[in-house]
Amino acid sequence: GYDLCDFEVGDLIGEGAFGQVFVASHKRSKRVKVALKCIMKLKQDRYLNIDGHSKPVLAEVAMMLKLKNAPQCPNIIRFHNWIENKKNVILILEYAESCKTLYQYLRDTFEVEENQARRLMRQFIRAVKFCAERGVFHGDIHSANILVTQPQLELKLIDFGCAQPITHKPLKSNQYRGAGQYTPPEVLRRRAFHAYPAYVWTIGLVLYEIMHRRLAFYNRQSIMFGSIKIHSRLSRDCLNLISQCFIRNPVNRLQLHLVEEHQWFNPTSPNPV
Ligand code: ADP
Ligand code: MG
Ligand code: MG
Repeated sequence: GYDLCDFEVGDLIGEGAFGQVFVASHKRSKRVKVALKCIMKLKQDRYLNIDGHSKPVLAEVAMMLKLKNAPQCPNIIRFHNWIENKKNVILILEYAESCKTLYQYLRDTFEVEENQARRLMRQFIRAVKFCAERGVFHGDIHSANILVTQPQLELKLIDFGCAQPITHKPLKSNQYRGAGQYTPPEVLRRRAFHAYPAYVWTIGLVLYEIMHRRLAFYNRQSIMFGSIKIHSRLSRDCLNLISQCFIRNPVNRLQLHLVEEHQWFNPTSPNPV
């Protein structure tokens, strides 16, 4: 197994409420940089039983283990292993070098061209679909949990701290832990909800945020009933895609497996009459 002594710990690269992320290098294989996410163990932490482990495993680790088996997805941060002691769980992650969070990237960018947005969204959708296929509902997708490398603009989804397993049963809205402004309306209605349409709502949110450099919805009222403000320069296809992701009834929302077939992703193909 791994030990914290195997690593030379470097700079702090991120800080959350219950943990810190450091860059580190593995002492024996000097060149290999990793990110160490140190999570303080708390009483209310969720633990899950998983195959091949005698003891329950912290949910964040358990969900990352589901994504770990080959083939992996290049748009999800790779999870190498974890270290556990009395007080902390330490995730050993791929280090995304010279990256910004999508939040920082949008703050520092004057305007994102639709072609660039399309490249980012294709990668984001690949990550989301991969999670869905592996039975993982991320549950906390927002622009600070998406990394974008500079200058290649490779996208990596991070932070599975609110993730839940997708089973044959719908998810319970009282178990949703993600950021308020990113919550789908069916979760706010306190109904049981399905992961796939909830993911599509998130796809709409991320696309909206990339194109407008602000959030689509700022409060519960607007998520449930409000209309979105749209830039005049947005293409008709882009607006149509966003609108189809924001259909409030999840039954009528665009389906996850059809998102990439939308006209906006196929700009050179002729418009259907
Ligand atoms: P939290 O659960 O506390 O929100 P995150 O997993 O989101 O923790 O990490 C916090 C921040 O650390 C991120 O927003 C990002 O800036 C940085 N970060 C996390 N993981 C990595 C990584 N693998 N490579 C580079 N930066 C990272
Ligand atoms: Mg986070
Ligand atoms: Mg988190």
